[in-house]
Amino acid sequence: MRRLRRSEGVRALVRETALEPGDLIYPLFLCPGEGIRREVSSMPGVFNLSIDEAVREARDAESLGIGGLLLFGLPLSKDEQGTGAWDENGIVQQGLRALRQSSSTNKLVLIADVCLCEYTSHGHCGIVKETQEGWTVENDPTLDLLARAATSLAGAGADVVAPSDMMDGRVGAIRAALDKSGSADKPILSYASKFASAFYGPFREAADSAPQFGDRRSYQMDGANLREAMREIDLDLEEGADMILMKPAMPYLDVIRAARERVDVPIGAYQVSGEYSMLEAAFAKGWLDRDRAILESLLGIRRAGADFVVTYFAKDAAKLLQ
Ligand SMILES: [Zn+2]
Repeated sequence: MRRLRRSEGVRALVRETALEPGDLIYPLFLCPGEGIRREVSSMPGVFNLSIDEAVREARDAESLGIGGLLLFGLPLSKDEQGTGAWDENGIVQQGLRALRQSSSTNKLVLIADVCLCEYTSHGHCGIVKETQEGWTVENDPTLDLLARAATSLAGAGADVVAPSDMMDGRVGAIRAALDKSGSADKPILSYASKFASAFYGPFREAADSAPQFGDRRSYQMDGANLREAMREIDLDLEEGADMILMKPAMPYLDVIRAARERVDVPIGAYQVSGEYSMLEAAFAKGWLDRDRAILESLLGIRRAGADFVVTYFAKDAAKLLQ
């Protein structure tokens, strides 16, 4: 075996999995204001950005050859229904228009996250109702709101909408709404199997979306279930999803592999905030070689079967890959 490992030239020739900047998607958190770059304390190097700063980040991303951006919003105010998610002047809608206008960001695929949790006062991904057994997140009434959010984001210039809520039937509802509103050409990237995970912790600080009560286990998946993940994927594809996104990545690489072997649609994987933060913590302590660990963590996700990877390391990795 060692004959084919003797030089970098031979190793490059027989390398089975490639990692390129164009495979990477860079998440951005948009906030109101101007000139704002507020670092997320649990995610060093990740910022809440006002739109002008986000455009600057996007230019850097494009010049590094990064494939696209995934946009999240921190609205000025929140309410029970999350109306900020479909406000024509919502923070992500404004950001999309600004990015569309900038000539130096037009190669980036602009993906808009579709969910309510960043916009609801209670921090859940759907409408909440109190019942005798406690609170519940209502499925069907939430679908209309998600569809409104998706149409609004597509109308503001998103290339792709990415529902992350895990309500049943939302892909079908969003597809129908997009088709009816003149956005029949906009693809859906569905977070088909999104597991309830401790690794989302730092994101909830970044997106200010921690649930005020309860948790998300009544709609996000149980981490023990692989077969159920395959069913979620089948259903989303039946409802019209064009691509699927797997989340988290590292603790669920077997799920990515199983999805890859089952379906032919493009698959993305999200290296989530906790995966990023634990690596950053180790880097800060000098316990891991930063450059090598970043690339290895991303290559592992690609090798498991993901075509593209959403990662907070997108810029670092793209620089290393130049
Ligand atoms: Zn959500």
